[in-house]
This record gives sequence, C-alpha cells and structure tokens, in this order.
Amino acid sequence: MEEKEFFSQVSHLEEQLGQIYVDFGNMKAHLADLMEENHNLQLENRHLRERIEKTKQRQKKNAGKSSADAADTSSFQAGEGYDNLARLYQEGFHICNLHYGSVRKDGDCLFCLAFLNKK
Ligand SMILES: [Zn+2]
Repeated sequence: MEEKEFFSQVSHLEEQLGQIYVDFGNMKAHLADLMEENHNLQLENRHLRERIEKTKQRQKKNAGKSSADAADTSSFQAGEGYDNLARLYQEGFHICNLHYGSVRKDGDCLFCLAFLNKK
C-alpha cells in the first residue's frame, strides 16, 4: 500500500472516531434525560396508586352511608388530609387537579397554591 493512501485511510478513520465520540456524548445526554423522566414517572405512578387506594377505601367506607354523605365526601379535597397534600407539595409535586402527582418542574404552581389557600 502506498504511504499516501494509507495516511488518507488513517485520517478517514480518525474522522469517523471523532463522529462516534460525538454520537456517544449525545446518546449519554439523551439517556440522562430518559433516566430523569423515568424517575419522575415512577414517583408520579406511586402517588397516583396511593391516591387510587385511598379513593377505594373511602368508597368502601361510604358504601353504607346515605347518598348525601357519600356525595359530600367524594369531592376532591374531602377525606384527604390537608397536611398530606401540603407535604406532597413541599416535596415538589403537584396537588392541583390539572397535574396531580406529577413533579413540579417550574417552581411554584398557581393552581396548587390556589388549592392550598382555599382550605
Ligand atoms: Zn399544580
């Protein structure tokens, strides 16, 4: 093989390696995003499951009561301790109807605060 040709091949390989390095960096950044999203979704899922469980228990409790009582306690706020919701909010999760259980990424949420102040 001619030296010149060999040099050109090595240069080409070097370029490809550089591109692979860049691709790897991009993939790693993407993976980090996915890991964070996955973590947040797991937390959200856990909160929603807890909420379903509480709702089920509440419905069981209300099953024997008059329909007026049941209707009263089935509203969003009722039966769910204000302290629990305030704690959830402090931990960085939405407690408003719009985004309940999801992570608060942009600081305070006006809907959550309005909801907390209503109580
Ligand atoms: Zn909110």
